[in-house]
Amino acid sequence: MHELSIVMNIVDIAEEEAKRHRARAVSSIELDIGEMAGVEMDALDFAWESSVRNTVLEHAERIVHRIPGRARCLNCSLEYPIQEAFDPCPACGEVLVEHVQGKELKVKSLVLSDD
Ligand SMILES: [Zn+2]
Repeated sequence: MHELSIVMNIVDIAEEEAKRHRARAVSSIELDIGEMAGVEMDALDFAWESSVRNTVLEHAERIVHRIPGRARCLNCSLEYPIQEAFDPCPACGEVLVEHVQGKELKVKSLVLSDD
């Protein structure tokens, strides 16, 4: 499962940060997850439950920012929201577009705590 490896990667990042700052736990974690990042939120929740046990993230509050998809048309430069990776430009119908946002998958911030 793809989401499991994503969560394990997030746990690694959090463990590393906590160790570096000699913190015992993470009180909250903010994630940026693009709507086109191919992440199934239900699967992510499920993977999260089983992966954070006995880690610094066990009691962390999780804040997820979903980043909506946006593309820029390579023909007329219009920027528009997209749901699917290959949604054509609504102005000129061009399918060659550049994805401006929506594929993010990263830890935005971590708040460490000592208890
Ligand atoms: Zn266009």
